[in-house]
Amino acid sequence: MLSIYDVSLKDLENYFEQIGDKKYRARQVYEWLYRKRVSSFDEMTNLKKDLIERLKNQFSFTELKILTTLEDEDVKKFLFELEDGKKIEAVLMYHDYGNSLCISSEVGCNMSCAFCESGRLKKQRNLLPNEMVLQLLMIEKNLNIRISHVVLMGIGEPFDNYDNVMKFIDIINEPLGIALGARHITISTCGIIPKIKMFAKCERQVNLAISLHASNDSLRSKLMPINNVYKLDDLIKCIKEYIEQTNRRVTFEYVMLKDINDKEQNALELVNLLKGMNCYVNIIPYNETSHIEYKKSSKDTIDRFYNILKKNNIDVTIRREFGSKVMAACGQLRANFKEE
Ligand code: SAH
Repeated sequence: MLSIYDVSLKDLENYFEQIGDKKYRARQVYEWLYRKRVSSFDEMTNLKKDLIERLKNQFSFTELKILTTLEDEDVKKFLFELEDGKKIEAVLMYHDYGNSLCISSEVGCNMSCAFCESGRLKKQRNLLPNEMVLQLLMIEKNLNIRISHVVLMGIGEPFDNYDNVMKFIDIINEPLGIALGARHITISTCGIIPKIKMFAKCERQVNLAISLHASNDSLRSKLMPINNVYKLDDLIKCIKEYIEQTNRRVTFEYVMLKDINDKEQNALELVNLLKGMNCYVNIIPYNETSHIEYKKSSKDTIDRFYNILKKNNIDVTIRREFGSKVMAACGQLRANFKEE
């Protein structure tokens, strides 16, 4: 049975029309789900009994189980169990501008980036839209808070689960529902070119971040196997087209790995690659994990790298470090939970 959290407002309108009922019922149901946050059809008191029975036969109310949480002052991490027993993570970060939630899009990940914990477990399946929506709903309910920003930077490659991720975005973006603004949603991808092209055409005003992490082709291929399929030059060309088509600014993420990609020469190569583009670079201090040998660059090295970009007119920020104490790196909580 389809989860009620898998359907967009449009899907639901189609459903009601198809069963010969009124389209506006969809809005009523959406209001119960996402404004009043009820957890059964019986609570939808403006619907007739026979319609409630019909909905019950068509859609289910699904849930995620919160297995464990870990907390620091500015971050809280959740380990969820899905209905089939698989485990995923979400990370809530408290910013001065609001609460930002980092959501997982897959169970495991096939991208095998050398420095990333998530890829140590190969992809087992895509997450369904409801399983992404519920990461947000469950955390809002559990902590009695509102989430203002969503980033698809948890476990998984969102563009390797394109349709479900787009459906998820449509559901949380719906003005009559959760109403999370498109500009408050960011998709992060390792660079799957055909999907970036598709995304450029889809006219959702969602932010795009590219995990770059290297300043030249051979280094990027060592760190990110996807670069053997979609080469750095082609990726940059694709992003230039994306910017032209959408008029939107793109973020490049660059995780700083000690003695690997953090040298002066890397910074200069990066300047060359990105100069003139409507973009900014987000330098990410690496979150060390016990299973992977990479180390984080020193603060001095990061500052030097930052200054080279700055001096060459590349917009750049250094990501504030969240929750290294609470294993906030992608996939870390799940990896350690399994071994306990
Ligand atoms: N697959 C997507 C989104 C998930 S990863 C992507 O590649 O963008 C989200 C970001 O966290 C990526 O930039 C990823 O490279 C980075 N990341 C992974 N492991 C990390 C770690 N241990 N420390 C810091 N950043 C990490």
